[in-house]
Amino acid sequence: MSADRHLETSKPGASPSASASSPPSVDRWREWADAAGCGDRLELEADRSLAASTTLRIGGAAELYAGVHDVEALRWLASRCRELEIAVCTLGQGANVLVPDEGLAGVVQRLRGEFRRFEIDGDRVRAGAAVLVPQLAKQTVREGLLGLEPLGGFPASVGGAVTMNAGCYGTEISELIEEVVLLLPGGETLRQSASELEPGYRRTNVGRRGAVVIEATLRLRRGDAEHGARRLAELNEKRWSSLPAGKPSAGSIFKNPPGDSAGRLIEAVGLKGRREGGAAISDEHANVIVNLGGARAGDVLRLMIMARDAVLRSVGIRLQPEIVLLGGLREAWRAAEAEETNGTESRRREERATGGACT
Ligand SMILES: Cc1cc2nc3c(=O)[nH]c(=O)nc-3n(C[C@H](O)[C@H](O)[C@H](O)COP(=O)(O)OP(=O)(O)OC[C@H]3O[C@@H](n4cnc5c(N)ncnc54)[C@H](O)[C@@H]3O)c2cc1C
Repeated sequence: MSADRHLETSKPGASPSASASSPPSVDRWREWADAAGCGDRLELEADRSLAASTTLRIGGAAELYAGVHDVEALRWLASRCRELEIAVCTLGQGANVLVPDEGLAGVVQRLRGEFRRFEIDGDRVRAGAAVLVPQLAKQTVREGLLGLEPLGGFPASVGGAVTMNAGCYGTEISELIEEVVLLLPGGETLRQSASELEPGYRRTNVGRRGAVVIEATLRLRRGDAEHGARRLAELNEKRWSSLPAGKPSAGSIFKNPPGDSAGRLIEAVGLKGRREGGAAISDEHANVIVNLGGARAGDVLRLMIMARDAVLRSVGIRLQPEIVLLGGLREAWRAAEAEETNGTESRRREERATGGACT
């Protein structure tokens, strides 16, 4: 099928912004980092598998993996990569990404150390980008600060949630943001309000700007801690009851089109339960793809292309991925999309030439 062809022809692990140059050896990186005085705040590892760093448990290795412990180390790494024209990808909890089987070229960084800290001041909480949102929700509720309960039931780091404008049960994180601190590609830090991030449905401009979220200040409201804890537990239970239990996934694969639900549309074209290799469209929720064991990114992508094309042909709605396709997967997705569009066009031309399909 066409998806296979695109997967084979896509450049292994290449990121759209990746340059031709590869990172130097990990020893070289360590020498440079030590010389710059931040070697003790960078965990560097070559060819580290990324599967365990994603909730789907899928993906090849990072050419160079960097656990980054403070802003100075982050800034240094960004500037070194810029000089060497090496692509950098930031990973949070890996709960909304699909990593190619071939892995990712360049540097994959995860924020650690000081980025895991948060502090509460009045009705505000200032949280580093690596703080886990469920943990933050629990802690703020315990302190009688309400607002994060709807977002406490799924895996997310603060950085990933801000970048994706994560949302659930009618609340998006952008509604709670007072200020976000970004590290821009040029190395400057920038304070931004929520509106300056141009938040929309599961998107902001953070990724497009090549920025890294360093921290976010959320404005919550004072309320009853017990009531908050009950609501958090209820919403958490509700969230998980609609998801396939015990099977690795990345939550919703597609965004819901306006006025409809991607899950309903995929179910309506008969793809619920459809299996490709080790991956399957969940029996419980058709907008979730699960890893049944040994699934590959190619299996997930094939299911996504199948679902998108089937829904497009059936009702004319083009589903858009919510999951972030990394490396060559994005190109493979777009190539399959272009092929589907060309195929549809030529089918239409044929139909017009033969007087239509019904004649
Ligand atoms: C079981 C399950 C249920 C889910 N339910 C929901 C739900 O109800 N609502 C919802 O919105 N999402 C849901 N998701 C998806 C996911 O939890 C969210 O999108 C979450 O915000 C992703 O955060 P993350 O830290 O895992 O980001 P990642 O998946 O690691 O990254 C997502 C994107 O953000 C970028 N990124 C990550 N950190 C940073 C940073 N510090 N700076 C700049 N860019 C960064 C990455 O490069 C990538 O493009 C669910 C996922 C699972 C597995």
